[in-house]
Amino acid sequence: MTAKPAIHPPAPIAVIGLGNMGIPMGACLIRAGYQVTGFDLSAAAREAFRAAGGRVATDAAEAVKAAEVVITLLPDGKIVRAALEPLKKDIKPGAVIMEMSSSEPIATRELGHGFIAAGFEFIDAPVSGGVKRATDGTLAIMVGGDAGTIERVNGVLSAMGRSIFRTGKLGSGHAMKALNNYVSAAGLIAAVEATNIGEKFGLDPNLMADILNASTGRNNTTEVKLKQFIISKAFSAGFPLKLMAKDVRTADSLGRALGVPTPLADRCADLWDDAAKSLGDKADHTAIGLHIGKMKINN
Ligand code: NAD
Repeated sequence: MTAKPAIHPPAPIAVIGLGNMGIPMGACLIRAGYQVTGFDLSAAAREAFRAAGGRVATDAAEAVKAAEVVITLLPDGKIVRAALEPLKKDIKPGAVIMEMSSSEPIATRELGHGFIAAGFEFIDAPVSGGVKRATDGTLAIMVGGDAGTIERVNGVLSAMGRSIFRTGKLGSGHAMKALNNYVSAAGLIAAVEATNIGEKFGLDPNLMADILNASTGRNNTTEVKLKQFIISKAFSAGFPLKLMAKDVRTADSLGRALGVPTPLADRCADLWDDAAKSLGDKADHTAIGLHIGKMKINN
């Protein structure tokens, strides 16, 4: 079998989901010369994408019909499945579906295998770096799936990301993304709790951040979030708490599905879920300390 050709500009690409990530990532593809058509259920999101220079379709079927690559950037894997399944009849045979949301890896594998059996190519390519790096086109992208398919869309990935990692089989990008965010989320809680204890004992929280950053307690939170968004009480890092809660739960559920003991991830996932419930949809993830601060001590 001869390998299918690589996908270069001005190939048509559909982006389904024009939210915080879909709009800037779609704009990167437009800058790279691709013909990008977007769709979102929200009229405001469609308008924002039009203002960013994108074409907008009236429904998802119209967005995907000419596309060589269909990108999904939706809230979670269940929504991705519900959005993609009805499009099997509309997507061009042989098109590459690139699932770039942060989704549940085992379900992604099942969804992807169904699409591959129906004659499409399917990879998972979740991202890390937030809205700022989505805007700059410098995201980290973790890509799982067939090596030949990933090769075909290398230019598309490079238009949105600076570090592109091949993680292995289908679903492995989604597994890696959730596990990364679990490590980040657990480190954030440790930094918040340590700061609260230290402050109560009389330590200066800003000095604590400096000492952590010069010592072995250093992590991503102590470096780029503790002073900036937590001690300052700005709580505006730009990544919603509910998305962090989803990712930590995904990592914990994967551990359980694989029979790996995860006592810390179990507790961590409960904490993020409880915080998401108590602080609401709009809360930034750096605000989790507001929830922890209200908790009762169990002796
Ligand atoms: P968002 O909530 O801003 O955007 C999601 C968009 O999907 C919304 O505009 C919504 O209207 C739309 N939508 C929902 N169902 C739809 C459907 N059936 N058809 C069409 N549109 C639909 O979310 P986001 O921040 O852009 O995140 C997208 C994905 O990327 C998520 O899985 C998230 O976990 C992941 N992610 C986000 C960030 C971040 O910093 N925001 C960073 C890394 C990864």
